[in-house]
Formats: sequence, C-alpha cells, structure tokens
Amino acid sequence: MQRVTGIGASPGVIAGRAVVLIQREQVLRYRVPAARVDAELARLFGSRDLTRQQLTEIRSSVGRKHGAELASMFDAQLLMLDDQKLLPRAADLVRQQHVNAGWAIRRVFDDFGAVFDDIADEYLRERKGDIADLAGRLKMNLRPGSASAADLLRELDEASVLVADELAPSIAAQIDWSKVRGFATDAGSRTYHTAILARSLGVPAVVGLQEATRIVQPGQLVAIDGDSGELVLEPGEELLARARRHVDDAAPLSGRQGEPAGPAVTADGLRINLDANIEFPDDLAAARYAGAEGIGLYRSEFLLMGGVRSWGEASTDEEAQYGIYRRMVEGMAPGAVTIRTFDLDQEGGGMRGLRLSLLKPDAFRLQLRALLRASRHGALRIMFPFVSAVEELREARRMIRDVAAESGIDDTELRRVPIGAMIEVPAAAYTADLIAREADFLTIGTNDLIQYCLAVDRSDARVSQLYAPLHPAILRMIVMVRRAARRRGIPVSLCGEMASDPVVLALLVGLGLTEFSMTPAAIPLARRLLQEMRSDELRSIAKRALRLSTVEEIEQELERNIVVGQRS
Ligand code: PEP
Ligand code: MG
Repeated sequence: MQRVTGIGASPGVIAGRAVVLIQREQVLRYRVPAARVDAELARLFGSRDLTRQQLTEIRSSVGRKHGAELASMFDAQLLMLDDQKLLPRAADLVRQQHVNAGWAIRRVFDDFGAVFDDIADEYLRERKGDIADLAGRLKMNLRPGSASAADLLRELDEASVLVADELAPSIAAQIDWSKVRGFATDAGSRTYHTAILARSLGVPAVVGLQEATRIVQPGQLVAIDGDSGELVLEPGEELLARARRHVDDAAPLSGRQGEPAGPAVTADGLRINLDANIEFPDDLAAARYAGAEGIGLYRSEFLLMGGVRSWGEASTDEEAQYGIYRRMVEGMAPGAVTIRTFDLDQEGGGMRGLRLSLLKPDAFRLQLRALLRASRHGALRIMFPFVSAVEELREARRMIRDVAAESGIDDTELRRVPIGAMIEVPAAAYTADLIAREADFLTIGTNDLIQYCLAVDRSDARVSQLYAPLHPAILRMIVMVRRAARRRGIPVSLCGEMASDPVVLALLVGLGLTEFSMTPAAIPLARRLLQEMRSDELRSIAKRALRLSTVEEIEQELERNIVVGQRS
C-alpha cells in the first residue's frame, strides 16, 4: 500500500483499476508550402466552426443535466473562440510564417495562457486549464473524425478509476461516470474547473497530486479518498470495504473486447500499423485503450519473474502459460498478438534469448506447446529473440514442427502461425536476407541492436551519451533489414524504444518502415502526429539524413524539418 497525498476535491471513497490518461501533448511544427496555405487556413477555420458547434452542444447538455451554473463554465471558451487575439492571430501566423495550423494554435494559446501564470488569484490562475482545453479541442478538430480522449474513455466498461495528468472540463463533461468511478489528477487545485464539476456530479476526486500518472501503473488497483485527499495504490481491505465497490480482480480483460482503433494514416494516405509492446498480460487493457492494433511484442519472460498479476501465480506450468496466451489472443482479437519466447539473460556471456532456449529444450518445448495450443484461439505470432544465425532459427522451427506433431496440430494449422525472428544482433542484421528466407516476419529490436552495434551497454549510465539511435550505422542497418524483408515479401516491424520518439518515428517512416510496436502510452501521440505528416516529404528527409555523417548532422536535419514542441 502506498499513499500519495493531494487535495481532496470531491468527497467519497472509491476503488478500481486505474486507467492512466496522459493529455500533455506534443505538437508538431512543419512548413506549409505556399500552395497549401489556403487549405491550411480552411482547416483552421473549419476547426473553429466545429469547436463552436461541439461546445454549444456540451454546454446545453451539461445545462440540461446539471443546471445553468455549471453550463456557464463553457461560456468562457465560446467567448475565447471569437477573441481577436487568438484565432485571427493564429491565421496570421499560418499566412505569414507558413506554419501548420496546429502549431499556430499552440503558439497563440501558449502566449495567452502565460498571462495567467503571474496572477495571484488562484481561481483566475486555474482558468489557464480552460485555455488549454480549448486549444486541445481546436487541434483535435483540425482532424475531424479522430478519436478524442472522451471517445476512448467511453470504451471502458468496467469500474475504473481515471488517473490523468490533467482532465479538461469539456472532456470530464462527456465521461460516463457510471463506468469511470472517480479520478485523480496531477494538475489542479480545489478551484480546478474539473474539480468543481466532480463535486457537482458526486464523483470522488483528488487533484494536485503532481506525479500520480508517473507512479500509477495502468491496471493497478487504486483507491481514491476524496475526503482525506489521498490516492492509495494497492489499498488494503479496510479501504476497499469503505469503497463498498465490487472490484473485479479476476478478469481485468472482461468487457474490453471492443473494436481496436483503425490504423494510423499519414496525411497522404499511407497506412501505418501501431502495435503495443507489453510486459504483463494485464497491460492488454492499456494497449487496447491506447488504440493499438495488436500486440507487436509481448515480453513473455516476465511470466517467470512473478509478472503474472491477476491471472494466477507466476508459473512455468504449461496449462498456466496456455491460459495466459489464450486470454491474450482472445482479448486482443481481431488484432494479432506477437509473443516473444523467453528472452532471459540469466547466464551472462551472451547466452540469452533463443540461444538459451535451445539449450533448455524441455522448457522451450513446453512454451512452444502452450503457444501452439493457444494459437487455435486467435491470431498468434511466435517470435524468437536474439537470433544471431540461421541455424538457430532452423533448429527452433524444427522443434515447433515436432511439438506440433505431438500435439496433433497438422501442417495447414501450423502454417497459420507466423514464426518470426527478432533482428537485434548485428550479425542478424547483416544476414537479414538469409534469415528472411526462413522466417515469416522480421522485427527489428533496436534496443539491443544499438547496444551491440555501437558497443554501448544500454544499462550503463557512463556511456549513455554514446547510445545513439540516430547513428548512421543504425539507420543503415534498419534500411538493410527493411530491404531484405521487402525482397522476400515478408512483413517487418520495429519494436525498439526509438519508435516512441515522434521525430525519430517520422524518420523511420521515411526510411520505409510502416509497422511499429511501442509502449502503449506512446501510441496516441504517434497516431496524431503521423496524421499530420506526408510520407513523400518524410522520404526525402530520410534520404538526406542517410547521406549525413554524424548523429549531430542527422539530428539537425530532423530538427530543421520536423519539429515537435512540448506543450505543458
Ligand atoms: C529490443 O531489443 O529492441 C527489444 C524490443 O527487446 P528488449 O528491449 O526486450 O530487449
Ligand atoms: Mg532485445
């Protein structure tokens, strides 16, 4: 049990599984060619019109449900929409500086918001949240049809507790509070608009927690005590009893079978697959919530580290593994789940991943059997980590065939289970063409590839500045692997951390990759930013980057052309 103290904003005690929402968003700046300025202005004004329509609707629905006083909260936003210092000024920026509308909105709203920073009056200072709320809505409406945080939260259908960095009133107003039972935010004070809303809705809330979104893991059992102003992680029986809520501890996946979000698409229509990397079966909920199409990397070795949280005890037992894999494929359907066989590094000296599994055939066969049995229940892909030679892959495939035969799985069934190799050792990258002949898909694991290619231990802080994802050698290796896969006509994805950085992701798309797997929290932003980019422009940026000699030059090239700014 861990307690984090904030400000009790709305009384009551509630417990449930945490849903973590990060709203602090990053905004992309890019040049708009002269010929597209008029179209960009049309987007800006289109967004203003849509925003006006939505806010008017929100205001009347809040008015109907909760009275005129609460509804008036949205009047200020409607007034700002017509403020001469805001949208007209953003339009000038688009016209004069040829920047994209999203960036222009950010600029003018940031400047406007800064005025409130120095105001002593706490109530007035909190109005900054309304400004950010409006700016966020305008930016969302630059791409009508994209899912908002409120849309995503609607998909939740079990008692959950929302832990957010900030919660804009217009989003809070649209949440179904019968599903989300309470909330905790990093931001805010008692006069936070959303806190006011929470009190009137009778939703327990704690605000001003500063670091709640960093501390709480999605899916973690938390309690909100709006009376004492505490967020309690892993609450004890007494608090749970006080919450008097049934906590569905056994089946965190139940009811999360909604459609996964569609693919991300660049502004010129290139489809980009965004899958999630997960360590715990329970993270599936976070992956779905973030709009992942599938699981691109499930690090199954966490099962052996006591990682199974609510599906029973950690076990190497075949039935337990089968049960977990099966629930995962069923829970992610129709998306595919890529399960990486154990990548353990217990013996040191490079004896890890597939090499180690091959040395422990009994444990390996047990895992393969559990995987093959689970594959009958959905789209499951088997992936081998740390492949460094074709022989290893052949040996592993031979074992899969044996295990399939023993388990009564015929060739037709077996062909439906793609078997892939991770390319994360330089030797594998250099022989990706040979490996591609014997694999159904490749996945580039840049976390290890960078450390082994650049001879930099990724866990050693002393050399961390040498750990450079943008090193020309890494970019070339990625291109080499992408080409090898394409020549063989097999899919290739990238699942290293570097894809979570939106600027680097843009470069990777420019290098010709269209499938990524990343930490769930990075997916919504990646999707939004990709929608703003044109793949042809990214290809020319990547082409130039490939001709440069140093990390610094490459970074500068990216900075000049793709700017992602932080909005806090
Ligand atoms: C990688 O090496 O890039 C990877 C995704 O695997 P891990 O981080 O689990 O080694
Ligand atoms: Mg790895």
